[in-house]
Amino acid sequence: MGDFFSEMSDAEYNQFIEDIISKKPLTDEMIRAMLSVTDRNSLKKMYDAAVSVKERYFGNDVYLYSFVYFSTYCKNQCAFCYYNAKNKIDRYRITPEELREMCGELKNTGVHMIDLTMGEDPHFHNTPENLLEFVRITKEVTGLPVMVSPGVVDNDFICALQEAGADFFALYQETYQEELYGKLRVGQSFEERAAARNNAKAAGICIEDGILTGFSKMKMSNGETINPSVSDDIESAIVSIHGMQKADPDQVRVMTFEPQPGTPLAETTQASDLMELKVISILRFVFPDRLIPASLDVAGIPGMVDRLNAGANVVTSIISADSKLEGVVNFDRDVSLNERQRDAKSVIEKLHEMGLERGSQESFEAYLNRSKS
Ligand code: SF4
Repeated sequence: MGDFFSEMSDAEYNQFIEDIISKKPLTDEMIRAMLSVTDRNSLKKMYDAAVSVKERYFGNDVYLYSFVYFSTYCKNQCAFCYYNAKNKIDRYRITPEELREMCGELKNTGVHMIDLTMGEDPHFHNTPENLLEFVRITKEVTGLPVMVSPGVVDNDFICALQEAGADFFALYQETYQEELYGKLRVGQSFEERAAARNNAKAAGICIEDGILTGFSKMKMSNGETINPSVSDDIESAIVSIHGMQKADPDQVRVMTFEPQPGTPLAETTQASDLMELKVISILRFVFPDRLIPASLDVAGIPGMVDRLNAGANVVTSIISADSKLEGVVNFDRDVSLNERQRDAKSVIEKLHEMGLERGSQESFEAYLNRSKS
């Protein structure tokens, strides 16, 4: 079944799309076959099918999120992350006044939502009021919906975030394979992470979950190998796709792991983003009416184009042309600020070239309201 799509007749291909629209579930065998596709024509048919499904729900509309990584302090030691507590890097935490100024610059740029992201910084984690103030400032200055990515927080904290006006709660499991989770999110509870997401949903906040791909044959600095073969990577993705279904997320993402300097996975070789693109299409088949991001943080505007062409409908990690804040992966860490092209204007221009549109603010907020209720 390696060339799953190219073996289909036109009638079967059209029926496949209709089955997805009518929410017929994919079998594991189908997902496995799609993840194993290597034939160029078959890949193109898979991406085109995902775009057709996306168009049925969202037309040509694309939504844009601005990314404000307001604190790079973190108490955790995730093996894949540049900002893990053990990494000796320069860190920053912006002040409420700096946030206010930034929000003033972001409010009329065309983004639909502001994503406030932090490491698990004790300054905010131990004193919820510090984060609630950031949510209130962002809402007040921009008038836009706010996504918060605070890490694992308890139910009282989540309810307070909802009262302060948070619209979206992003918390990525990264993998639903518990053994792999233990290697990646070192020392952190698998269950508490999943529970925080469920609590946010119950509190009436939209939720986002996410997974990482590209760990096949990766060696950690302690000599351990993650996912020794490509088929392990495929099975891992299947488990994770099903894992994400459990909490009924409003937005689902996949990103390719990128080795980060100073981490236990620093010396491994970066995988191609082929697996990520396939998983984006499969996420579109499994979650046909949900938001699926194309992150600028992995491969910039060219990467965004590939991801939108694979079925994504949101562009994330937009930062203003002169922003000095970090991204999470920062493929462009060494690129000068004015060459980054991760600003809303550059994104919207590219969308138009692709025949896509910035969706209206009303349609985006209608999606949020439907999801919350
Ligand atoms: S992934 Fe998040 S929680 Fe883990 S080390 Fe990085 S910033 Fe901290």
